[in-house]
Amino acid sequence: GEFWQDVPLAPPDSIFKLTAAYNTDSYPKKVNLGVGAYRDNDGKPWVLPVVKKATEKLLSDPLYNHEYLPITGLPEFTSAAAKLILGPDSSAIAEGRVASAQTISGTGACHLAALFLTKFYGFNGQKQVFLSNPTWVNHHALFKNVGITPVEYPYYDPRTVGLDLQGFKTALENAPPRSVILMHPCAHNPTGVDPTREQWKELAEVIIAKHHYAFFDCAYQGFASGDLDNDAWAVRYFVEKKVPMLVCQSFAKNAGLYGERVGALHMISPGQDTANRVKSQLSVLQRSEISNPPMHGAKLMALILNDEELFEEWKRDIKTMAHRIISMRKELYRLLTEEFKTPGSWDHITRQIGMFSFTGLNGAQSQAMNDKAHVYMTTNGRISMAGLNTSNIRYVAESVDKAVR
Ligand code: PMP
Repeated sequence: GEFWQDVPLAPPDSIFKLTAAYNTDSYPKKVNLGVGAYRDNDGKPWVLPVVKKATEKLLSDPLYNHEYLPITGLPEFTSAAAKLILGPDSSAIAEGRVASAQTISGTGACHLAALFLTKFYGFNGQKQVFLSNPTWVNHHALFKNVGITPVEYPYYDPRTVGLDLQGFKTALENAPPRSVILMHPCAHNPTGVDPTREQWKELAEVIIAKHHYAFFDCAYQGFASGDLDNDAWAVRYFVEKKVPMLVCQSFAKNAGLYGERVGALHMISPGQDTANRVKSQLSVLQRSEISNPPMHGAKLMALILNDEELFEEWKRDIKTMAHRIISMRKELYRLLTEEFKTPGSWDHITRQIGMFSFTGLNGAQSQAMNDKAHVYMTTNGRISMAGLNTSNIRYVAESVDKAVR
């Protein structure tokens, strides 16, 4: 007999579909604002100079080999990665309360964290996780895969193209105690809308009062503001306030190591003894999932993070990327408001942070951008700022202007 005849055909991933449409488009002025990967001012992928240097150093080492890493990863990488996100003076690190595992980039960190929660978290009633509305769409599938039901909390307010702080806080108050709350500590995907420090403090207060668990997914440290410490502020504040929490960390964007799949999961415990037990179970889960994580990217990041000179160079490279994006925000704002005098308010373009911007364009307007202007973007109105450059930004602004008129 025939196997799999009942397997339904799944729709293609929307972002990959967008890229495929862009690739087959012969229009000379076409622009791809779909994919969330950094591009330089020539629209090309950018290998960070520090990564190039570290790669040469790594490969010229006569002892370089392709052996297995330990199950929870390269220790020089995971300990430096923990310091990077939690801060070099973190009391949680000093007290041995952090259990870290190297993961398949940020996605793998989220998956391992979700798997750990489904096995060990004392869910209050239903196994559910609170996700921002909207969030990175993969979050939904990732939790469903391990039997945790996603529920949404209000986050984005379309009227202000900003944060719905009151809606968010009310949802936290109404959630059952000890709920798991997933948050993006910086450069929220897809909206580019982040809470301010004062707003984070208000959110932490409710989270502490309700004994919620903070699940931080940090995919853009440094990429948001250009400053690694600044972008880690929310995470460090929650650690300081002793909120029970974990952090998923990715080096895809801030080191341009997308395909190398280098990331980490850091779980913070109340004491060292608990952290040791947590780590032992992370090791057991990791073993059955991937046996042990990939080596090359972790070795690169270990070199960069543990060498003072390379670390300084990396920080400069991060600034180059973040500041190019910030300058594109300013220029897009200027073109829309001053040159084209496009109807509507556009302050959010410069207020938003990181790789993405929610333009406020509705579904029909976004579709017109795709169909009429050959500017490829998702129909929720999200554009990847990294796809803009000095050669195409005027055309994009003009297209936005036409789409909204
Ligand atoms: N979380 C968020 C919020 C993201 O935007 C991304 C990247 N799109 C990831 C996690 C995972 O990325 P990666 O697995 O490539 O590190």
